[in-house]
Amino acid sequence: MSKPTAELAEVFSSVQGEGMLIGLRQVFVRFRGCNLTCDYCDTPTEITAEPCLVEQTPGRRDFVPTANPVALDRIVSLIDGWQRGWPGVHHSISITGGEPLLSHTVLSAWLPELRNILPVYLETNGIMHSVLGLLIDHIDIIGMDIKIPSTSGCTGLWDDHRSFLQIAARKNVFVKIIVGDETEEWEIIRASELIAAINSHIPLILQPVTEPGGRVGINPVRALEFQEIACRHLDEVRIIPQTHKFMAQL
Ligand code: SF4
Repeated sequence: MSKPTAELAEVFSSVQGEGMLIGLRQVFVRFRGCNLTCDYCDTPTEITAEPCLVEQTPGRRDFVPTANPVALDRIVSLIDGWQRGWPGVHHSISITGGEPLLSHTVLSAWLPELRNILPVYLETNGIMHSVLGLLIDHIDIIGMDIKIPSTSGCTGLWDDHRSFLQIAARKNVFVKIIVGDETEEWEIIRASELIAAINSHIPLILQPVTEPGGRVGINPVRALEFQEIACRHLDEVRIIPQTHKFMAQL
């Protein structure tokens, strides 16, 4: 039976600019579509008829448009070739979006084969817990968001985030929260308590929101206050901004 094909936005090699894997080189496989509409979103989330942009040489930005949907064999042979030509460069494959778990049927077929090449790192908004439960055995590392209302504009996601993290905690997982000047202390307390109730060793990244022009949108002292609040509940709380933008990386 043929493997399902995927609606992809782009496939390329770059450094990870956020979270616990920051600075490591990864292969990014970006899926189309999202189930949220965050206020700070910088990623096109609608599914269009646009082709997928596939980089031919890792990190050289020689993109070639490839018709959607894209076949697994195309991606496997690309990454296999990069592994042979540039051995040891890539740490892992970042499955990102949009929200990649919307493509769970594709992922159930793709992840075992991608994981034969490199470890699989899932970047997710952290709400599709039922789907995560089906895929968790094929994932090595998870970076999940907790969307707080003040910065994301998304509400009512706390229970979904809790259920998601309960499953994700079976793997190497960290949580990321986008914080800004409008963030309120109760949001940091609630998120920290949610994480600590599952495992206080799970790292939390407080990521200052990136404003147009690349400036971080939080007062420096406020960021430190939020870290102090989260540290009352959690062992490892880091403040890390998006770094790929000021490095002019993708
Ligand atoms: S979850 Fe991510 S991709 Fe989806 S709208 Fe929010 S920021 Fe954008």
